[in-house]
Amino acid sequence: MRPLAIRAAGLFDGQKYLAGPVLVLSENGSVIDVDCSGVLPPEHADLLDLGDLTLLPGLVDAHTHLSWEPRGNPEHLLSEDSERLLARARLHADQALSAGITTLRDLGSRGFDLLSLREDYRRGRAVGPELLVSGPPITPSNGHGWFLGGVADSLDQVIAAVAERARRGVDWVKVMATGGFTTQGSDPARPSYDLETMAALVRSAHAHGLPVTAHAHATSGIAALVEAGVDGIEHCTFYTSRGAVLDSALVEAMADQGIRAGITLARPQGAPEPWIQEILDCVVPHAGELMKAGVRVALCTDAGINPARPHDVLPADLVYAADRGLTGLQVLRAATSVAAEVCGVGHCKGRIAPGYDADLIAVSGNPLHDIRAILGVRAVVRAGQRVR
Ligand SMILES: [Zn+2]
Repeated sequence: MRPLAIRAAGLFDGQKYLAGPVLVLSENGSVIDVDCSGVLPPEHADLLDLGDLTLLPGLVDAHTHLSWEPRGNPEHLLSEDSERLLARARLHADQALSAGITTLRDLGSRGFDLLSLREDYRRGRAVGPELLVSGPPITPSNGHGWFLGGVADSLDQVIAAVAERARRGVDWVKVMATGGFTTQGSDPARPSYDLETMAALVRSAHAHGLPVTAHAHATSGIAALVEAGVDGIEHCTFYTSRGAVLDSALVEAMADQGIRAGITLARPQGAPEPWIQEILDCVVPHAGELMKAGVRVALCTDAGINPARPHDVLPADLVYAADRGLTGLQVLRAATSVAAEVCGVGHCKGRIAPGYDADLIAVSGNPLHDIRAILGVRAVVRAGQRVR
């Protein structure tokens, strides 16, 4: 494959804006040079001239459900055959890639089917985003997401579930540390496991070299996760009997321990009940507080869980987060360089810099000034090849 030289008017490198003209040179799927001095592209490279567009790192969606049909009932997943499930996941991955999402962390599919898709993309057998896969979340009987097949109740069963994930080769262990709002009969206000079990889960995952991220709404569940030494917390709602109330001591502990947060931007649809609306209204301000306290925050989607969460929803969610008070810089970092860190791939994804994977997108205008630019992705480069 010949090197690719990409010319554009400016560049957000994942951390800051660099005024152009810029020339990004990639070879064998990696960025090897970023130049802002106006040099000519080398003769041995193919030129992709993007004129007055702005380059950004490919977006990272740190929390998705690639195999879920947004308009469907996820409980059907348990009995679905793998071929159909994978065909749908492939369509969703294409949809995400077209919207500029070049890395996706799947935090809950049925079984381990997505591992084969991940390998197809990694080995270049098919074009798709980089996938990071957890397999089925570990959850108690009838707990949140039980229908994905990751049920484990006792401490021994939990340890065995972690060992199975290590054997299968997942990238992350996902555990449901509290109930959820979307599984009938599960309670978001209650922890799913006692502290001893949660701590044993984290220890055994770490012994296998695997990071753990945990779904948690209730503050009591978040507190147990901080004590158990988990690596990431999803949603991180700080849900209490008085609604969503940030606990500053816990936030500080998260920052101190380097516990990352995957904040899913559940934009309200229609007219939710007032108590739900109140919780949803806290999501973006709380994300801002976590960032201010030094917690690494990814803004992500939970794509797949309902009709308002298709797999290309991240750009629209980022606009929502900016409209709710975060700056363009906070939003863009939380979907590129910081999101990559949150997913454990901060060394190769989420930035445009030498040594990083050549996953880039281009938009018109400067998204730091007007985040709406991100809604109109004009080009997508994945592993050094233009795919859109
Ligand atoms: Zn989820």
